[in-house]
Amino acid sequence: MAQHHQKVVLVGDGAVGSSYAFALMQQGIAEELVIVDIMKERTEGDALDLEDAAPWTFNKNVYSGSYDDAKDADLVVITAGAPQKPGETRLDLVDKNLKIIKSIVSPIVESGFNGIFLVAANPVDILTMAVQKFSGFPKNRAFGSGTSLDTARLRMALAKKFNVSPEAVDAYILGEHGDSEFANFDEALIGGRPLKLWAAEAGISDADLDQILYDTAHKAYEIINRKGATFYGIGTSLARITRAIFRDEKMVLPVGAWMEGQYGLNDIYIGTPAVIGANGVEAVIEATLSEEEAAKMAASAKTLKEVAEGGFARLDA
Ligand code: NAD
Repeated sequence: MAQHHQKVVLVGDGAVGSSYAFALMQQGIAEELVIVDIMKERTEGDALDLEDAAPWTFNKNVYSGSYDDAKDADLVVITAGAPQKPGETRLDLVDKNLKIIKSIVSPIVESGFNGIFLVAANPVDILTMAVQKFSGFPKNRAFGSGTSLDTARLRMALAKKFNVSPEAVDAYILGEHGDSEFANFDEALIGGRPLKLWAAEAGISDADLDQILYDTAHKAYEIINRKGATFYGIGTSLARITRAIFRDEKMVLPVGAWMEGQYGLNDIYIGTPAVIGANGVEAVIEATLSEEEAAKMAASAKTLKEVAEGGFARLDA
């Protein structure tokens, strides 16, 4: 990775992609940003619009490009694909988006790209697996946003409940980025003290915490029903992961990482904390889980495996 010059190719310039691009502009992440989408004119318009942010923030070369621009890129971020329509689950999107992913990954690999793939298009855990499978990249250099947005939503909800900053909350959503996800309430901390202790002192019951989890897992539907899509949260999550990679932060972030025995799981990408640095996923952190939570992780993985197997079989048929 060239020092002081880092290049991102963003594939998918819709609501999520353009929010990510805006976050990179605002936060001074990457010196070069290439935007690719089948809607070419939109990428040209977005590049012109985004570059107007540079004089007030950080200099950046932002332009509309093609897959060939990935040849010397450090990171390719994939946010292309059909989004959820009201009433649709993320898993409903699998067939449509697997085809799109296939058409994107091949030309990127053919360009000579040798960086890191970061995937956000849904169903993200399955599409991340598709990106790794189609690219043949090492698993640490092909990973997904996983439960990063969900974890942000959980931390925000807990922060409001306990009247602390969301940065002070050390809690995770694990599992599928979707309906079978769950929270590690039994181990979560706020300011080094168990969340369960905070809850007991504040008279917050397990049922109240379950309601927080339910609201977290369904927040996307609440947003989509009101404004048609969710994008600022995920755009910022992707920018946070990008910063951890480009600055080799070794930051612990929730992502969609490949399982090699952690949680008793194999051959699947799933939401977990991981150490993120210049080599992508540098270590998977197997969060300590209570028995009940471990059962939820297993169930979530089972859902993902079934959908992945069905999706890949239909794609190959
Ligand atoms: P959008 O419809 O606004 O944008 C999708 C973009 O993809 C469009 O610009 C479209 O032209 C482009 N596209 C479609 N096919 C393409 C192809 N073959 N090559 C290049 N570009 C192509 O949708 P959105 O709201 O930005 O959502 C994008 C994806 O991100 C969806 O799958 C959505 O479910 C997902 N998403 C993920 C998270 C997360 O936490 N991981 C959160 C929100 C949305």
